[in-house]
Amino acid sequence: MNWLTSTVLPRIRSLGQRRETPDNLWDKCPKCASMIYRRELEEHQFVCHHCGHHMRIGAKARFEALFDDAAYERVELPEVPADPLKFRDSKRYTDRLKEARAKTGESDAVLVAHGRMGGARAVIAVQDFAFMGGSMGIATGEALVVAAETAVKQQAPLIVFAAAGGARMQEGILSLMQMPRTTIAVSIVKEAGLPFIVVLTDPTTGGVTASYAMLGDVHIAEPGALIGFAGPRVIEQTIREQLPEGFQRAEYLLEHGMVDMVVHRQDLRDTLIRLIVLLTVPVTETVTTPAPKPAKQTEEKAIAPAPSGGNELDIPAPTAATRKAGDKTVAETGKADNAGAGATEGGSDADGKTDLRK
Ligand SMILES: [Zn+2]
Repeated sequence: MNWLTSTVLPRIRSLGQRRETPDNLWDKCPKCASMIYRRELEEHQFVCHHCGHHMRIGAKARFEALFDDAAYERVELPEVPADPLKFRDSKRYTDRLKEARAKTGESDAVLVAHGRMGGARAVIAVQDFAFMGGSMGIATGEALVVAAETAVKQQAPLIVFAAAGGARMQEGILSLMQMPRTTIAVSIVKEAGLPFIVVLTDPTTGGVTASYAMLGDVHIAEPGALIGFAGPRVIEQTIREQLPEGFQRAEYLLEHGMVDMVVHRQDLRDTLIRLIVLLTVPVTETVTTPAPKPAKQTEEKAIAPAPSGGNELDIPAPTAATRKAGDKTVAETGKADNAGAGATEGGSDADGKTDLRK
């Protein structure tokens, strides 16, 4: 073999072959329009490192980012009746379901898994917006009930990641029934004295915000997430007034006391672990608390219990006030029965996708 066959010939051959470049090598940030290398984006948990925009991510990516060593076990969810109303708009509901299943590889919008976070047991339910806009149907209700039961059985906190355009209109009244159903599921966890933490992600709207997504002991929101019941367009048309800048965004809700904290996706795991430690007293297992940030030292430190040597915690302890606030939300949700109908209209269109941004 000489240099002709070993070097030149392969080069000539490679000229004739088209180099295969995957289509999804680069992604564009929807906010600042920067082109980001896919692998880099994955490393940053789909947060744009130019502008900090939090992109929507799937359930599996969440599980991997949250559980210790990305190790978790999926909880099997029961099958639910498909298309009980034989619903059809421009397409059959069964066809829409088939499409969503093919796209996501999952049978419905909510996935439940259990594993360990900082050494402590945890059950996490994630609503995937990619599956028919994360819309709440019978399967969502079923998943939340199973998640609650798993949490109680394992004596573990329940963490729910909400992302939805509202109730699933293709299931009509049956989807609205999931509001009281999920509320009861949440109460099972609370009655067992276990923490229920909600992480509101972009977007959390419609019937979901009128039920389990607003009943947490602690509400965390991802930066910039749209959170509300009816969409801004619907509100503007109803009250005939311009809405303030940043209305229904996570930061606005934090300012107005609707959420407890806005947490960057990369700090989410550590924050959740700290919350689990604080809310599960007494600590029976050895839990490794991540080192808290030294920057913030508030007076809350004084009232916060310091289990397993966790000092300088910058998260307020679960005071009676926090719990009361949760209960109040239950009472208010009960009143909002006729408003529930708006969830389907305002929350999701025929495609099951949200149109709130229009
Ligand atoms: Zn960006």
